[in-house]
Amino acid sequence: MSSTASGKNGTWRNWGGNVSARPARQVAPASVEELAAAVRRAREDGLKVKAVGTGHSFTSIAATDGVLIRPHLLTGIRTIDRAAMTVTAEAGTPLKRLNAALAREGLSLTNMGDIMEQTVSGATSTGTHGTGRASASIAAQIKGLELVTADGSVLTCSEKENPEVFAAARIGLGALGVVTAITFAVEPLFLLTAREEPMPFERVLAEFDQLWAENEHFEFYWFPHTGNTNTKRNNRSAGPEQPVGRLAGWFEDEFLSNGVFQVAQWVGRAAPATVPAIARVSSRALSARTYTDIPYKVFTSPRRVRFVEMEYAVPRAALVPALRELKAMVDRSGLRIGFPVEVRTAPADDITLSTASGRDSAYIAVHMFRGAPYQAYFTAAERIFTAHEGRPHWGKVHTRDAGYFSRVYPRFGEFTALRDRLDPDQLFQNNYLRRVLGA
Ligand SMILES: Cc1cc2nc3c(=O)[nH]c(=O)nc-3n(C[C@H](O)[C@H](O)[C@H](O)COP(=O)(O)OP(=O)(O)OC[C@H]3O[C@@H](n4cnc5c(N)ncnc54)[C@H](O)[C@@H]3O)c2cc1C
Repeated sequence: MSSTASGKNGTWRNWGGNVSARPARQVAPASVEELAAAVRRAREDGLKVKAVGTGHSFTSIAATDGVLIRPHLLTGIRTIDRAAMTVTAEAGTPLKRLNAALAREGLSLTNMGDIMEQTVSGATSTGTHGTGRASASIAAQIKGLELVTADGSVLTCSEKENPEVFAAARIGLGALGVVTAITFAVEPLFLLTAREEPMPFERVLAEFDQLWAENEHFEFYWFPHTGNTNTKRNNRSAGPEQPVGRLAGWFEDEFLSNGVFQVAQWVGRAAPATVPAIARVSSRALSARTYTDIPYKVFTSPRRVRFVEMEYAVPRAALVPALRELKAMVDRSGLRIGFPVEVRTAPADDITLSTASGRDSAYIAVHMFRGAPYQAYFTAAERIFTAHEGRPHWGKVHTRDAGYFSRVYPRFGEFTALRDRLDPDQLFQNNYLRRVLGA
């Protein structure tokens, strides 16, 4: 995947192309000391501070007109502790580098999202997740964190050390300090068998509880304007390894899922009336397949077609009614939606502002091709999700504010009180945080 946020003419832009900012200055510290000095200097100069990952968030959560801290010199594995089964990575390490390094050591994370371009700190700061029956987001796999706080000092936290910081800072929204290193729980490298299979929408909904209960990782994509889905079931396997063949992999993952899909999106954007027909063809293009490989090769795949996304977590029990309402809304509207809707799950976790905090959750993600008008679709979808007390992904488009979050997150006040203690002058503030956390 071509990279992310660009810095042309001093302008920073996110991957989706829907957010840009002009920071007063940009720095790329190569050590924790350099980073702490950059934070202190910004403070002396009266500038706000924002650390950024690879700009894969669709919200303005990473935007700043102050000092932008770039991640690329703070990368790599610091330590591997085989007794504790943990690995500590520098905050700017891309997930793909972490995954490859772990695999070389015979280790793996337990669960991950759809892609691995993001940095470890950027991904965890917004609660990036995959799908899981018992295994939760990437942040839920964190065992310890090191961060530079607003006064330029270094703070470490874990379940035992500063536990109130640990509870919140694993998904810290960039509001509590600049993360400099993350310690993850790891396990011995294992194999996953993926079963991808088209299935009618009505059947997936009727059998959803069973599909979820019978699989360690269940997800599906529904194609609006059709009654078709593609399902994916990933389960641990004793082997043998049976990776997708190179030619078949290229054909399905590159040619169909990226190349042909890109062309279909161009056509649909230029002539929206063709979208339902394209959706019917797209939804039938991929055939059933089964393969067995190491985790990151099963969980993640390249996403080259650029899009804008909104994703909400609803209580898992609300998934089926919420999806029925979404389908009914699309069917009766004049909307033309060329991108599939992705559905995943997560078990309840104990992180203060995790979208799955304290409740078993299902995620519904709606997407639009970059450059196609998305507001009407996202507004209508958001109305459905919020009626089910949905919690939006912190890094994906939404319009919610602090008043709403204080209602759907029982521990919201705990997070803002901690932010006020660690960052009383709001050095890490930006417009997004002002909206979602309140002044
Ligand atoms: C193609 C694509 C696929 C995606 N797939 C998934 C998916 O499967 N599951 C999912 O949940 N999400 C997914 N996302 C969303 C994405 O994972 C999140 O938005 C993630 O936060 C992006 O990470 P990043 O490294 O680009 O961080 P950025 O977007 O650059 O920053 C995100 C936040 O992290 C903060 N941050 C970054 N570094 C630090 C640091 N060192 N200290 C403190 N704060 C920091 C920033 O200030 C900002 O608040 C996807 C996005 C795209 C574009």
